[in-house]
Amino acid sequence: MNIRAQLTFRYIIIVLLVLFAMYLYLGTALKGLLSDRITEDLEVHAALTREILIEKLPPKDNFTYDAIDSLVDRLGQTSPARLTFIDIEGIVWGDTERDGAALRAMDNHLTRPEVQDALQFGSAIRDRYSDTTQTEFRYYAMPIYRQTSSTEAADLIGICRVALPMETVNTAIGNLRQIVLFASVAGLILAIVFSIFSTGVIIKPIEKLTQMTQSLAAGRIDSRVPVDSKNELGRLSRNFNLMADRVQGQIDQISEEHRRLETILTNMGEGVLLVNGAFEITYANPTAISMLSLPETHIGKALIEINRIPELQALLQMTEQTEAVAFAEIRLGNITEPEAEITVVPVAAGEEYVIVVHDVTKERQLERIRADFVANVSHELRTPLTTIRGYAETLLNEDATQTKAQEQFVVKILNHASRLSRLVSDLLELSRLESGDVKLKRTPCHLNTFYEPILDVFEPILEESELVLRWNIPENLPQVSVDQQLFMQVLVNLIDNAIKYTPDSGEITVSAETRPRETAEEPNTHSEEIVVQVRDTGIGIPMESQSRVFERFYRVDKGRAREMGGTGLGLAITKHIVLRHNGRIWLESTLGEGSIFHVAIPL
Ligand code: ADP
Repeated sequence: MNIRAQLTFRYIIIVLLVLFAMYLYLGTALKGLLSDRITEDLEVHAALTREILIEKLPPKDNFTYDAIDSLVDRLGQTSPARLTFIDIEGIVWGDTERDGAALRAMDNHLTRPEVQDALQFGSAIRDRYSDTTQTEFRYYAMPIYRQTSSTEAADLIGICRVALPMETVNTAIGNLRQIVLFASVAGLILAIVFSIFSTGVIIKPIEKLTQMTQSLAAGRIDSRVPVDSKNELGRLSRNFNLMADRVQGQIDQISEEHRRLETILTNMGEGVLLVNGAFEITYANPTAISMLSLPETHIGKALIEINRIPELQALLQMTEQTEAVAFAEIRLGNITEPEAEITVVPVAAGEEYVIVVHDVTKERQLERIRADFVANVSHELRTPLTTIRGYAETLLNEDATQTKAQEQFVVKILNHASRLSRLVSDLLELSRLESGDVKLKRTPCHLNTFYEPILDVFEPILEESELVLRWNIPENLPQVSVDQQLFMQVLVNLIDNAIKYTPDSGEITVSAETRPRETAEEPNTHSEEIVVQVRDTGIGIPMESQSRVFERFYRVDKGRAREMGGTGLGLAITKHIVLRHNGRIWLESTLGEGSIFHVAIPL
């Protein structure tokens, strides 16, 4: 049952109850009132009749049927009531309902209850069935007294009785009931009409609201309800409209942001892929589709099923385990496929992963071309340089030079040629390391094995510049697995720099220790590493250059470095060698006080 029917139904029930109560109350109240009125009428009638009878009745001994009945009939003509006169013996002398023989044949009325009551109490009222007329009557009886002389007491001469048939009373009550019933029915109809109208006032706005919310739910976000009142329902409608405005505003905003994001994702050079916890694709932008050669129906498919790149799967699994961003450079298939930097970012606690694929094929190609070019040029320069140096040395040795000036020129040629060939061999070394052509020949050894060879290299120069080299590596240090030749080069480069950039009579200290290994990528591994430190009391490196000294050709003071015979490649080569050993290199330095280079190699 809808609200309207419920409300109407309740209204009608209430009205029915009220009307029923009214009908009952009015029925009884009016019945009492009417019957009182009738009784009063009878009383008045009886009193009037009695007065006339007292006056007009013949003396008691002269009672005749003719005289009294005609008197009674005359008196009765003025009202619908039945009038009877009974003498004190109970004989009925006059009655409006009986005449002649019928009157004479009437019973003795002395035993009638109203007559008895009237004689006993002065007046009486009775509703009872009349044997004479065979109908229900209301009787009112009064005794009639008459004074025969002024000295004597009044004589009772008879009873005056007035009666109205009950039918009259009942008809009046019936009429009244009918009126009340009619009023009730009219009230009911009015109530129904009113309830339909008044429920309509409430229901209509609610229906409109319902329709609006239905169309909102169906996605027609621009639907609104008309607000045509200021009452509670009007306010409710207005609030609904406001709410819908808000929702529409937010949806518009979200759609706009979605559209923007979609445009960015569609047009960006990087491939973006979303996979769920089961590594099934939930989104792929056009770049990702083309880079990973995804089929048209890729949504919902497991990535491994449509793109068999084990490295990518491994990267995803690693991200799943560590719940941290993972990064790798992967070739997306065979040699013809692009090379890509892939970043996997876990989202929402491992329930989703964002994979960003950045094509680096071109960069890598350019790097290779550049490296190849450098290697080729260096290689091509080697032979002519050797020839130049050979001839210059020959010129010097064979004393073929004519003058001092010529000799100086030849020495200069030799020096520059040597510098150039150092540069060329450094460049070649760097390209070899970068290309990955160098295979590490790792053998376990104690760091002290490097002491003798180092001393062989640097002893003359140390003596010359009055520098002290302290070798502080404890004997009980564990062995470290390194490519001895390359690691020797690391130590040589670092000590060479320390000597170059430390003024005479300074001090260079080489020390080493083991430490627990804690790197950013593997925060919880409990392995150890050996850290070698090369410390000098030299000129130091300014703060802004500290992060750049490992770049190739970077020199803090170009003139000085060149003067020192540096190529600007030493630290770049050193860093490459350390990285090939999975190690780290970093420095601490204070300008004017000295520098410390740290090299960490995992054990
Ligand atoms: P170079 O062959 O010029 O020494 P490196 O790559 O070995 O090239 O070093 C790069 C630059 O770092 C040097 O030119 C120098 O300015 C600075 N440098 C390296 N080691 C030290 C050091 N121990 N003290 C001060 N400066 C240094």
